[in-house]
Amino acid sequence: MSHPDRAGGWHPDTLLVHAGTLRSEFNETSEALFLTQGHVYASAEECERRFSGDEPGFLYARFSNPTVAMFEARMAALEGAEAARATASGMAAVTASLVGQLKAGDHVVASKALFGSCLYIIEELLPRFGVASTLVDGTDLDQWRAAVRPETRTFFLESPANPTLEIIDIAAVAEIAHGAGATLVVDNVFSTPLWQKPLELGADCVVYSTTKHVDGQGRCLGGVVLASAEFIASHIHNFLRQTGPAMSPFNAWVMLKSLETLSLRVERQTRSAGLLADALSGHRNALRATYPGRPDHPQADIVRRQMRGGSTLIALEVAGGKAGAFRFMNALRIARISNNLGDAKTLVTHPGTSTHQRLKPETRVAMGISDGLVRISVGLEHPDDLVADFRAALDQV
Ligand SMILES: *Cc1c(COP(=O)(O)O)cnc(C)c1O
Repeated sequence: MSHPDRAGGWHPDTLLVHAGTLRSEFNETSEALFLTQGHVYASAEECERRFSGDEPGFLYARFSNPTVAMFEARMAALEGAEAARATASGMAAVTASLVGQLKAGDHVVASKALFGSCLYIIEELLPRFGVASTLVDGTDLDQWRAAVRPETRTFFLESPANPTLEIIDIAAVAEIAHGAGATLVVDNVFSTPLWQKPLELGADCVVYSTTKHVDGQGRCLGGVVLASAEFIASHIHNFLRQTGPAMSPFNAWVMLKSLETLSLRVERQTRSAGLLADALSGHRNALRATYPGRPDHPQADIVRRQMRGGSTLIALEVAGGKAGAFRFMNALRIARISNNLGDAKTLVTHPGTSTHQRLKPETRVAMGISDGLVRISVGLEHPDDLVADFRAALDQV
């Protein structure tokens, strides 16, 4: 197999089409799908060398497969990371990034505005195994500092956060983490690798649910952990290899093909989201349209410093609480009601009754999730049609 040089200073668009491509003896144009559990060896000696690591090569699909390796190499090139490991879902990536580093007696600090399942890992699962956790308001740097204990091992955050789109100063939190001898893991789903590079801002590890913008067309689950070669070797590789949440070669193949169009899709979705946020923010039934990229975003200065683009999502506060939000959602004709995001189809979510339904009401309030909050994930439809659809639905609230 041949492997083109993936350095070369190429732009993200070029990396997304070419990086990591492995060609077999048939020199296929498109990335091949290797649906195989394992590989055969020319001799017992070759098998021995592969297992000892003296000879590189693929062994068994729980931890090495050519199609998955192409996906990992392309994601690493895009992120500017030394190493990447693909996983079966975003939650498998989040779990590996934490459990791979931690042991009983350690302590984790995390921002409380997190994807619901990430909150479960930090608040419920880790403590069962003797790992204590503290949740903080991630926008308040003093709370991160105050939460540090001698046994603090890692910080975890999401920015922009789901579903409020609040922004955390990643470089500042990384500095606090490192000052405390801890690492920082960033869940970068909401900004995509195109608009924010946490490793450049000081994070030690970045995780994605590739189910979202990377697939981007509502088909496959996937995730990826990206970090230095040293971090992956010490904390991630063996955990994934032995516990088995592997990305299937088929899903890796779908996602490789999706990566070819990632920048086209995300740039278009971001432009449309900006237009839509502007068009909705003056409407009498829109109490607030929070959008990273608008000057009225509460952390607009941090957005300018740490993000290269806005977001494909908008957090819209609709008048009339839950009833108003439901009337608005039910009146939409193009945008569909769903809990997913990053899709080609514009999707709306009422977090209070879906993704964040199980939280206590006071926790929801503390996270800024009001009864009128609707999360909008902007798709690839024509922006004029979206503006018309959303304005007409807001008129009916
Ligand atoms: C969706 C999501 C996850 C979980 O990903 P799955 O692929 O659904 O397991 C984690 N974090 C964020 C921010 C997400 O949006």
